[in-house]
Amino acid sequence: MSEKKSCIFCEIINDKNKARIAYEDEHTLAFYDINPVALIHIVIVPKIHLANVNELEDSNIDFVASMFTAAKNVAFTLKVNSSGYRLVINNQSSAGQTVFHLHMHFLAGRDFFWPPG
Ligand code: AMP
Ligand code: ZN
Repeated sequence: MSEKKSCIFCEIINDKNKARIAYEDEHTLAFYDINPVALIHIVIVPKIHLANVNELEDSNIDFVASMFTAAKNVAFTLKVNSSGYRLVINNQSSAGQTVFHLHMHFLAGRDFFWPPG
């Protein structure tokens, strides 16, 4: 995969940094967030370095599809598919993005509110 130096998520994908893996396939890795904001907080990342949704191209469609496959798989594996879960993608700093490698937050294990803060 295309890797970016000094990207913490590229390091986790390439086994240069540790994470507790929740799901993996050819295109995607899902691991537990180091600073969880819910009982279950997993980060789902494509195995390609894209800063955020802004950098997605048509050729990246398999990575996007796999991120959702990962989310569904995690939901059923952790048995929160019925109780509920929230998927969040923060794009750019004002939206709360702090790690600039595209990722989807998988949040479950508590109630969530709308609109989000
Ligand atoms: P965001 O603020 O949307 O960019 O989300 C980045 C998320 O990555 C935050 O929830 C961080 O707690 C999480 N995070 C940062 N570094 C690590 C790491 N080494 N392992 C697991 N999660 C991380
Ligand atoms: Zn990266």
